Amino acid sequence: MVIQRRKTREIDLGGVKIGGSNPVVVQSMTSTKTRELEKTLEQINSLYRAGCEIVRVAVPGEEDVEALEEIVKKSPMPVIADIHFRPDFALKSMERRAHGIRINPGNIGDEGKVREIVEEARRRRVVIRIGVNSGSLEKDLLEKYGSPTAQALAESALRWSEKFEKWGYTNFKVSIKGSDVLTCVEANKIFAQQTDIPLHIGITEAGFGESGVIKSSVGIGILLYLGIGDTLRVSLTGNPVEEVEVAYQILGSLGLRKRGVEIISCPTCGRIEVDLPKVVKEVKEKLKGVEKPLKVAIMGCVVNGPGEAKEADWGLACGKGRAVLFKKGKVVKTVREEEMVKALLEEIERELKD
Ligand code: SF4
Repeated sequence: MVIQRRKTREIDLGGVKIGGSNPVVVQSMTSTKTRELEKTLEQINSLYRAGCEIVRVAVPGEEDVEALEEIVKKSPMPVIADIHFRPDFALKSMERRAHGIRINPGNIGDEGKVREIVEEARRRRVVIRIGVNSGSLEKDLLEKYGSPTAQALAESALRWSEKFEKWGYTNFKVSIKGSDVLTCVEANKIFAQQTDIPLHIGITEAGFGESGVIKSSVGIGILLYLGIGDTLRVSLTGNPVEEVEVAYQILGSLGLRKRGVEIISCPTCGRIEVDLPKVVKEVKEKLKGVEKPLKVAIMGCVVNGPGEAKEADWGLACGKGRAVLFKKGKVVKTVREEEMVKALLEEIERELKD
């Protein structure tokens, strides 16, 4: 089965194409103080190595605006300046060559200021993301709907989109985010049904560790399954590199993007013949950073093991004290338990070198 993606217009953000028939673009955001140039660039480079394609940096103060020019110059990928409340920072960020800016028109305050930002973005061919957020919805919509409902969020996004277009600017995308998964999904659905504007998707403030990953995967997964989403960010508390890894796992599980190693392992049961969690952890750790899409199956016994291991690029079907190593469905050899991980890794390494 292939997901039918919503037809959207294509925009170009610093050379990265979003929307149209382009793959879903993976974004993340630095967690460093933007003004700390060295640390920020270091994190941007780590994100890039993990597969991030567009990076956003927070611009809360003058010193962060000042740092932007150097960051844009040295970043290996397009940079978006994240602006809240300060229209002057949006204008200055564009002056400092940010490829994109993210604003929440609802908190810029004055429509005239928003228009000024839009005019400047049009002049400089900068992409704007209209970021509608449940935490900062316009007052009149809150009064109309009583709370930030899906309809209210979608209406806010549609309202600003119409204004941008009326002002002759179409080089923008929209995000509608909330920490409540269902509201967020519904709001994106309503918006998507009415426009061809590219959507940046994500669940904001998804949380820490496992719960953040689950919440993001469910919300983003539903939207992607519905064909919605041209670019995405998985928001997690912690190291943003993890956001990129999770993003590719979500995209990979839906067949939308492939990058890195996908490890398939059985849930284990009473037939288990080996310390499978230890083996999987070791293989996962050793293959971290591999960019080539590879499916590696590690199975705990001979019942389902050989079948599953055969379906993957590489497979280990563990038996009592030994394991069968497969390559694309064909038996390569039988190895002793103590040597199986080493044997698997050596074969994969050889393939990666070819
Ligand atoms: S592969 Fe074997 S050990 Fe793993 S869950 Fe299946 S039957 Fe149990």
